[in-house]
Amino acid sequence: MKLYGGIEAGGTKFVCAVGTGPGDIQAEVRFPTTQPAETIQQAIDFFQAQIAKRGPLAAIGVASFGPLDPHPDSPTFGHITTTPKPGWANADLVGPIQQTFNVPIGFDTDVNGAALSEGKWGAAQSLDTFLYFTIGTGIGGGALVNGRLLHGLLHPEMGHITLPHDWEADPYPGHCPYHGDCFEGMAAGPAIEERWQTKGQDLPPNHPAWELEAHYIALAMRSFICTLSPQRIILGGGVMAQPQLFSLVRQKTLAALNGYVQSPAILDNIETYIVPPGLGNQAGVLGAFALGMMAEADH
Ligand code: ADP
Ligand code: ZN
Repeated sequence: MKLYGGIEAGGTKFVCAVGTGPGDIQAEVRFPTTQPAETIQQAIDFFQAQIAKRGPLAAIGVASFGPLDPHPDSPTFGHITTTPKPGWANADLVGPIQQTFNVPIGFDTDVNGAALSEGKWGAAQSLDTFLYFTIGTGIGGGALVNGRLLHGLLHPEMGHITLPHDWEADPYPGHCPYHGDCFEGMAAGPAIEERWQTKGQDLPPNHPAWELEAHYIALAMRSFICTLSPQRIILGGGVMAQPQLFSLVRQKTLAALNGYVQSPAILDNIETYIVPPGLGNQAGVLGAFALGMMAEADH
């Protein structure tokens, strides 16, 4: 079995691992995200120690916070682009790793990595067009379209779409620094916390927060179903840890579509159409492995 390296590069912590896939993560280390040079060096040190112990890596995948440049032909491939995170704007994440280890390096957003790994091993196996969302501190979406990750110009920013906002029913102005009441601004964890003055994890399951949350998620799902025609939608992230949200989102998505998209996958089987992730809390590292495997295959 070939061994892969993975880096889940988050804004607060890095998780590095070596392994072959789900159930076979052979070593893992976590450390806080400080300055790029120091943090990347810690990742390199980990992989060097692992290679000395276990043998060579076939590829390394980096699933990162963004925005970032995922285009291998671009001069800034492997860089973070415009983050407000101090020290990280225009940071070259892939370069130092590429120079140290002469193996294919996959690099993409954390949500794209998670989407790819859900297709390979999780809740979207055998599908070629599906969406993965994380609804947590922010909202991000990754799309597999015809079997490939959708990039386009940069990468999609599905959390920042506009949703109808009934200011009377919900006077909360939203918290997105760029758009105010975009999807993320209205429905990410910090919006729930600010609107109700209570963290999502501390609101009871029958609180009206969840009807409203499901309302916004369902409006977003309608837009994405109508634009990308996914065969399935996976919803993950801290907010979706509220189990009652899934049935609310399913009902409201059906209501929002109003019978227009005539597919039994939606009309008769909504509970297998909008689903939780299959890979749970390993999604980050497995996403990185999956990006490494894709880079190796594309090499
Ligand atoms: P991140 O997006 O930073 O990777 P998470 O996906 O865990 O992290 O999302 C964190 C957000 O999810 C926080 O805003 C938190 O309040 C919210 N959250 C965490 N657990 C729950 C829960 N059980 N129910 C509702 N919201 C939650
Ligand atoms: Zn926004």
